[in-house]
This record gives sequence, C-alpha cells and structure tokens, in this order.
Amino acid sequence: MTDFAQTRALFHLPEGMVYLDGNSLGPLPKAAVERVARTVRDEWGDMLITGWNKAGWMDKPMNVGNRIARLIGAEKDSVAMGDTLSIKVYQALASALEMNRPRKVVLSDSGNFPSDLYMAQGLCKTLGEGYELRVVAPEEVLDAIDDTVAVTMITEVDYRTGRKHDMAAITARAHAKGALTIWDLAHSAGALPVELAKAGADFACGCSYKYLNSGPGGPAFIYVAPRHQERARPALSGWQGHDAPFAFDLDYRPARGAERMRVGTPPILQLAALEASLDIWDQVDMAALRTRSLQLTDLFITGVEATCPSLTLATPRDHALRGSQVSFRHPEGYAIMQALISKGVIGDFRAPDIIRFGFTPLYTSDADVTKAVDILAEIMANSLWDIPEFKTRKKVT
Ligand SMILES: *Cc1c(COP(=O)(O)O)cnc(C)c1O
Repeated sequence: MTDFAQTRALFHLPEGMVYLDGNSLGPLPKAAVERVARTVRDEWGDMLITGWNKAGWMDKPMNVGNRIARLIGAEKDSVAMGDTLSIKVYQALASALEMNRPRKVVLSDSGNFPSDLYMAQGLCKTLGEGYELRVVAPEEVLDAIDDTVAVTMITEVDYRTGRKHDMAAITARAHAKGALTIWDLAHSAGALPVELAKAGADFACGCSYKYLNSGPGGPAFIYVAPRHQERARPALSGWQGHDAPFAFDLDYRPARGAERMRVGTPPILQLAALEASLDIWDQVDMAALRTRSLQLTDLFITGVEATCPSLTLATPRDHALRGSQVSFRHPEGYAIMQALISKGVIGDFRAPDIIRFGFTPLYTSDADVTKAVDILAEIMANSLWDIPEFKTRKKVT
C-alpha cells in the first residue's frame, strides 16, 4: 500500500493553490531541485565530456525506460526515452506501417490529441499514394477495425473527456483483423495501471511531464513489443539508435531491441529531474493509485453535480471507462476556468467548451477536492466568471 499523505509531502505545491492540472504538467518533486543541481554541478560541471561514461549518461535512456516499464506493464528493455511525444508517435507509426504492408490505413478517433493526428497526416503525405488517416468517433473504434486497417493509433484516455478505451479489447480485435496497434499513454502513464504486455500491444508511447512529473519539456518514451524489436525499422535513423554509435560507420545499422528508437543526444538534465520523480514512483502501488484516483474523481463529480447544475459532466460515470481526470462542459468554460485560476484553483480549458481537472493521487488530497468544489460552486452561483477580464483568451488555455 502506498501512503499518499507521505508522497504529497515530497512535492513542492505552492501555498494556497489547489493544483488540478497534473495531467498537463506535473508539479516539482522537491528532490528534483538538488538532483538537477547535482547533475549540473558535479556531472556537467566537473566531469564535462567524461560524464557520458562516468555518470552513465549514455545508458540513461534505457535505464530510465526500465523504470517507466513497471508503470505501464512493459517487458524489460522494451522502453526507450527521448525526444517529444509527437516524434515518438511518428516513429511508432512509421515502423508499424512499414511492417504491415500493403495495408495503408491508419485508424484513429476524433478524441485523439491533434498532434497525433497531425503526425499521421504528415507521414501519410510523405508516404504518398493511398496512405490515409481514418478518423471515427471514440465509441466507434472497435467496429471500425476492419481488414483494410494497417494500424490503430489510439490515445487510451481522451485528453478532453477523460473517457478510457478498452485496450485489451481493441488490441485483440485489431490483431484478429490483421492490424497492429499503437497506444498513446499520455494520459495513462502514472494515471492508472497499464498492462501493455498483457494486452499484447505492439507499440506505445507517452510523455513524462504530465502524470510522471519530469518538468516542462521532459522526454517522451516509446515502447516496442519484444516480438517486433528486431523487425521494426526506425524511420528516424539517428546515430544514438545505431548499433555502434562510436564506430562512426557511414551506414546505418539499427541497435538491438527498443534502443534503436533513440535518435540523438538525450536530455540529461531533464532525465535527472525525471529520475527524482521516479524515486517516488518506484514506491507506488499502481492498484492503490487507481483506487485512490477513482475516489478523488467520484468525490469531485458528486460535489460539483450537487452544487453546479449548469455544468454538464463530460466524463464517464462508469469507472471502467474513466481515466484520472474530470471534465465538465459549459458554453462559458473559458471564463469559468479563468475565474477559478484567479482564486487559486488550477485546471485548464480545452476548446470548445470543456473545463478539465486532473486528479493525481500522489499529491491531491480530499481537502483539495472539497476546496475546489466550494470555490467552483461560489463562482457559478454568483456568476463571478461573467466579467470581460476572464473572457480574453490567452495563448495557452
Ligand atoms: C500531451 C500530448 C501530446 C503532446 O506532445 P508533445 O510532442 O510532447 O508536445 C501528444 N499527444 C497526446 C495524446 C497528448 O496528450
């Protein structure tokens, strides 16, 4: 069992703030400050270039990947860190499409994050004739998997509604129809237990700066199922994914295993921050995390529905269909969120009408939830959102 009061004390949470946006950017693990400082001072500062060997920088993408593997039910040495999630989506997609020729259809859903769809559109255009991104409603994914689909590219938890797909069922159906699967775990890794190996997933990817708290710009991860690792050709064939980077061969030869998905120099400072966060994650029981997450989201849904009748729940009530966030719809959602933020309750807004709140057991308490409900109720009852100041859209919503 994990003691969540204890894990909360390990994060820097600004005084007076109720932070319900860890699904967008996780807070600072207190130990990350010293961990990053030490990496800067003792490794970069004192070791300089020798840090690649002495401080093990070169092995960090796979070593850190192995710590994330536990959280997502992946096999050892099947997860590599680096780059951003958009790039990892592209890599997985390019490899999967090549492995499943002559099929040319990428199946995704309209609840997917736009960057995933954009990457697929860009890749289809590059590949040319016949390649196609097919987008259906989230509820229609299972039935839309037919024998024209080369690969499904699905984000397990919808970033807007928090609706969760059935990974095992979709993967099984895809395989029955001869399709490969890519799972985007941006809102799953660190949010709920994931069982990639058990589900038989082919590829997966995700980011570390949301629920995994690596800080802004933290590296993404990519998973390649062991059975595909020697067949998956990296489309972005960079030197760090070469079998022998320091042989400086003129020709590319992929590294063994998932390490071939590395591209260029890994972000060592950002990985140091992630390692400090993983020191906490290493102690977390994922089943306990899920239980606590559902308690928190239930508490919030019940509280808001009892006090804010004009807000419409966008998140499934059914636990089996829910990630670790809660969203409500309201035509003035943007202004409502600005009013909340002005009172220290931090969530975010997703166009056109969603206010979104992330629930992160490692540092969210019942008292946070109650306070957020009370403040939201006060804002709605008195229309405190209805002033011009809250209606001007900022660049990041
Ligand atoms: C957050 C998120 C991204 C962001 O991609 P970056 O390349 O890290 O900016 C992509 N896809 C999904 C599903 C996300 O939730």
